[in-house]
Amino acid sequence: MGLLQHDQVLLLLGAPGAGKGTQARFLAETLGVPHVASGDLLREHRERGTALGRAAQGYMDRGDLVPDDLVLDVIADRLDQPDATRGALLDGFPRTVAQAQALDARLDQRGGGVRMAVYIDVPTEALVDRLAGRWLCRGCQTSYHTEFNPPAVANACDVCGGELYQRPDDKREVVANRVAVYLSDTLPVIDRYASQGILHCVDGNRSIDAVQESLLEVVADPEPEAIAV
Ligand code: ADP
Ligand code: ADP
Ligand code: ZN
Repeated sequence: MGLLQHDQVLLLLGAPGAGKGTQARFLAETLGVPHVASGDLLREHRERGTALGRAAQGYMDRGDLVPDDLVLDVIADRLDQPDATRGALLDGFPRTVAQAQALDARLDQRGGGVRMAVYIDVPTEALVDRLAGRWLCRGCQTSYHTEFNPPAVANACDVCGGELYQRPDDKREVVANRVAVYLSDTLPVIDRYASQGILHCVDGNRSIDAVQESLLEVVADPEPEAIAV
């Protein structure tokens, strides 16, 4: 699908547990662009034990945002890879207005921009259950849910056969902080794209398939709706 042009990006926005990762994998494949998830990239740095990974880990374990300059380095490096010049689907970034401004500046320099922002809207009450039952693949980061999206074979990834694990920051206490941080720091980012007229809103409180269908409609017909968040 030819929605994105050179150095254009599509953003998937939403609370922790809204279903960004689940939907992004499929959507990126449909659009033929890489799926760039800031959380996945930060966890990779931690696993490799890089200086950036070590600097980020305390923030991540508490459910606080990693400082903007660190996240911006990670995203800029990823967008500099050759596969991302035709565009990318960003998941979990930007999460602050400063990150959104830095992203605009970087894309602008290259003659690109944010093509569209899609907000997956899920009520706060649903998030804790989603995250408490989330299991991720160590190999390819695909997410499953014990109740809502179980793997075909227990504890193995459907895609790559990898082992599944639970994220330590999906514990109830940490989730409460992540949701609070989302409401204070990331909702203003969503407002920002709404006022730019490039925000689309999708009801994320439905089955994975129903949400996927709505996302496909949005990217197939990218005229923004006039909505307020
Ligand atoms: P989820 O998809 O469940 O919302 P992520 O994997 O996107 O979680 O993020 C995990 C953690 O990584 C966050 O709680 C935060 O500490 C850090 N992180 C990820 N993306 C960003 C970002 N854009 N800005 C700051 N911190 C981030
Ligand atoms: P995010 O990347 O936004 O933090 P995920 O895609 O990892 O969220 O989804 C969070 C959890 O909720 C996962 O366990 C996933 O399997 C599950 N999930 C995703 N979409 C839905 C949905 N539409 N209905 C029920 N559960 C869902
Ligand atoms: Zn896997």
